Amino acid sequence: MRSFIVLLLAFTVLSGRPVEAHSTGNRLVRVQLSDYREGMKRIQSQSIDVAGVNLDTREADLLVNPTQSEWLSRNGFRFREILEKVDSSAPDTRYQNPTKIESALKQFAAAYPSITKLVSIGKSLQGRDIWAIQITENASKATASKPHVFFNSMHHAREVMTSEVGLDIIDQLLQGYGKDAQITQWLRNYVIDVVPMFNVDGNNLVWTSDSMWRKNARGGYGVDINRNYPFAWNSCRGSSGSRWAQDFRGDSAGSEPETQVMMNFVSNIRPVFSISYHSYSEIVIYPYGCAGQRTETHEVVEKIGKELASKLMKDDGRGTYRAGTAPELLYSVDGGDIDWHYAVAGVIPYVIEVNSTSQGFQPSYAQWRDKTVAGQRAGWKYLLSRMDGASLYGQVRGPSGMGVQNASLEVRSVGGTFKQKVRPAAEGFYTVILNPGQYEISVEAPGLKRSSKVVTVGESRLRTDLSLTNL
Ligand SMILES: [Zn+2]
Repeated sequence: MRSFIVLLLAFTVLSGRPVEAHSTGNRLVRVQLSDYREGMKRIQSQSIDVAGVNLDTREADLLVNPTQSEWLSRNGFRFREILEKVDSSAPDTRYQNPTKIESALKQFAAAYPSITKLVSIGKSLQGRDIWAIQITENASKATASKPHVFFNSMHHAREVMTSEVGLDIIDQLLQGYGKDAQITQWLRNYVIDVVPMFNVDGNNLVWTSDSMWRKNARGGYGVDINRNYPFAWNSCRGSSGSRWAQDFRGDSAGSEPETQVMMNFVSNIRPVFSISYHSYSEIVIYPYGCAGQRTETHEVVEKIGKELASKLMKDDGRGTYRAGTAPELLYSVDGGDIDWHYAVAGVIPYVIEVNSTSQGFQPSYAQWRDKTVAGQRAGWKYLLSRMDGASLYGQVRGPSGMGVQNASLEVRSVGGTFKQKVRPAAEGFYTVILNPGQYEISVEAPGLKRSSKVVTVGESRLRTDLSLTNL
């Protein structure tokens, strides 16, 4: 046994590529959980790669190596094989790769120059550009007054359908502008940012070496970018410290260039809402990722999350997605993007896991691509229309009439418990999503006099500018 391990290590060193991190030789098994919550906790304790779940049948799809499958049997889990050997050959070539996505985005930008701005938001570990397309009317003009909504796909490389959803959002918005009244109005009022392929290095590995690759390209073992964000990093057993685990959190919080690129971009655009597309499980996830923690503004975050899920029809047409926190629906997650979005950047963020266990990570393109992206439209359109719903927005202005960005706002429900702190974005513009009701909004900034007013928020967005005077 020991000589085998030595050989294995030697192979790892010599080939520069660890065998364990690859899925070749792994099996995909479907396990039936009598006690779902407890079962998932035990599975997570073994750093087993959970591919997806079916909440109706209480089944989880697991990618297991021989040791893990032996552990499952020994511990009384009932499972059956879905795939005896995971096919590590590349998925259907009609799915995107980094080169194709770049040229698709360049074509979109060239075809719709007045309503798009294509930007490389930074470089991946291996030096690939990570692209965002910003969609809005008069895209070349300064747009500080327009709030942003952000859609990103593919933190996890093997989740190839998610890039298709991103491309479809872009396609629908660009084609709809000037034809569809609702889309035209969204592009007039908002900036919609889309990153259709975030983990470009990982996706390259999906095509060149392992179709089940999930992480980035760090060192041959890879870091799970979606466990690497520096908010609550490594705080609740929601990630692994082992480099070979599929949810390896990285050697330190925010260690990965991709994580940094995303944080910089989100800090710059300060979106009101974001959706991070993943696959699979047919669920909508909102923060926080650690058990027992609820967002400070859960009355808004959870209500919208449930509404969002209710718009998304399941692949089999029977019912809609479910919504909840990661520990409610799956398992604990720490260092995930949505927690950072919410707690640090003030975004209302969601994860959507598209497709069911019947489709898996790489569904038949011909059968499922168009159907999946069409089904997702009701979700992202709902969030855009929610921008038009109950909310306050406006500008914080100083004594000179100029916008004040370093102000702090606090919104409290009159006679209720709701309270939210808001930091304005560029030039003092702010947006705060609320439930209808009466609120007191107060604002302060260094060296200026605190002021407040009471407003009644109905079913649509209400412009409320706030003026600060000298002390
Ligand atoms: Zn994922």
